[in-house]
Amino acid sequence: MLGRVSACVLFMECLPFQPRFLLLCATLCLGACSHPKAPIYESPPIILVDIDTLRADHLGCYGYGRDTSPEIDRFAEQAARFEWAFSQGPNTPPSQASILTSLYPSTHGRIFDAEKISEKAETLAESLAAAGYRTAAFVDGGLMSKGFGLEQGFELYDHRPGGVRRIGPKVERWLDDHLRDPNTASRPFLLLAHTYDVHSPYEVTPQPYRNRYLGQLKEPPTPRFRKRVSARMAKIRRSHDQQPYPQLPERDVEYAKAFYDGGIRHVDAWFGRLRKFLEARNLFEQSIIVIISDHGDSFQEHGDLFHGQIYSPVTRIPMIIRWPDGASAGVYSPVVESIDLMPTLLDAVGVEIPTAAQGQSLLPFLQGRAGVESMDQIAVSESPFYGRRIAVASESYRLFVTEQGRLEEIYHYRQDPLEQRDLIEQPPKELQSLRGHLRKWRGLVASTELDTDEKVEEVDDETLAQLVALGYLEPGGELTTGGQADQERSPAIFADGFESSNVEAWAEKEP
Ligand SMILES: [Zn+2]
Repeated sequence: MLGRVSACVLFMECLPFQPRFLLLCATLCLGACSHPKAPIYESPPIILVDIDTLRADHLGCYGYGRDTSPEIDRFAEQAARFEWAFSQGPNTPPSQASILTSLYPSTHGRIFDAEKISEKAETLAESLAAAGYRTAAFVDGGLMSKGFGLEQGFELYDHRPGGVRRIGPKVERWLDDHLRDPNTASRPFLLLAHTYDVHSPYEVTPQPYRNRYLGQLKEPPTPRFRKRVSARMAKIRRSHDQQPYPQLPERDVEYAKAFYDGGIRHVDAWFGRLRKFLEARNLFEQSIIVIISDHGDSFQEHGDLFHGQIYSPVTRIPMIIRWPDGASAGVYSPVVESIDLMPTLLDAVGVEIPTAAQGQSLLPFLQGRAGVESMDQIAVSESPFYGRRIAVASESYRLFVTEQGRLEEIYHYRQDPLEQRDLIEQPPKELQSLRGHLRKWRGLVASTELDTDEKVEEVDDETLAQLVALGYLEPGGELTTGGQADQERSPAIFADGFESSNVEAWAEKEP
């Protein structure tokens, strides 16, 4: 049972801040600004910025060398940034569902493309809606489209694709409409903005961002790769079941990375614009604003491209939470996982956390009411691909298990962030406890598994075309299901005839 926001009282007690700048801000703007202004909310609005496929270590605030993220870095300076946050899976369906349900993929049931989140799962949006929040989502289509269960609890779920160029203006319109309508203006809201701009195909990133980092490369890419980046990468991806993986030459990998980074810079510029928009409406300081991703991307650190593996290039994600007034800002190093976000947000706004939630609220730790020893410091990522892999992280190490073949690997991820040196031949003493955590986790998900029989029956033509462009589907192909798991070692299948011009045509299509 969910109560209404046990509201302002709980909120004021729970949050690590007081909205002290807001009255001043509101006063200064009275009568002088043309934008609608937000009232002082009793419960803070929550704005969730979900940048699909964004690996943490390609952001400046996580130590990246290129200037991919000046706006996100500036934002992070006044936010709680988690240095070691892991996603629950390597790809969109399981990982996004885990963010929104606080459940591991094996529990919520959305693992393969065609599967839905069980209706029995309670989502962040459902919890907040029941507590009086308005809920709106603007997502970039594809595997985030309506029908996969991610829409549970959202009163508005707009899944028309187009990246931030099209999603950004819709977000702004919704916010202004919300503030102008006297029936809604005083209600707090959950707003989810999701984009695939960082995801391949990189050719759709607009200039000047697309080519921004190409000039830094020592060598030009091989001519064939330069001509059709995504098509070339697609062919590599399609060969995932071959061992060893077909390799791109190092110069081509650098070229792909430069394109990827250009996509990040593009989204970063949009985020800067969103910040200004929120500031002008008195929303920036009083909202809880989150930047998160569902997974990263590989550039052959472990031999392959795309995101099917669960090594850190894919599963180490940014998790940056800005509390109102920038309270509790800092860099936090305990290991956390994306299922922790939902309980943390609910805790912060005084809404009951569903008993089924498998993540933990990070709020007591952030507020200094509990020490690091109060946290479980365990993160589990699971992939149905590459022989069904599971990784369990504790304070310093991550243990990987490949179920088919029963192989084990162990890495000191803090000293070896790309997980290049497998220590299994001379394992640390933590190996035993990690095995124990893994056993415990298996018991948990086995006893909590929700209905996984629900499949998406029909996907519209536009979504299918987008899934082809994003690399999840061959033209005329079908979405993957659990029954195909043993055969499908990669989630990404491109067509032979894939051309970047097709991608551009798709990207220019009006939603
Ligand atoms: Zn994704």
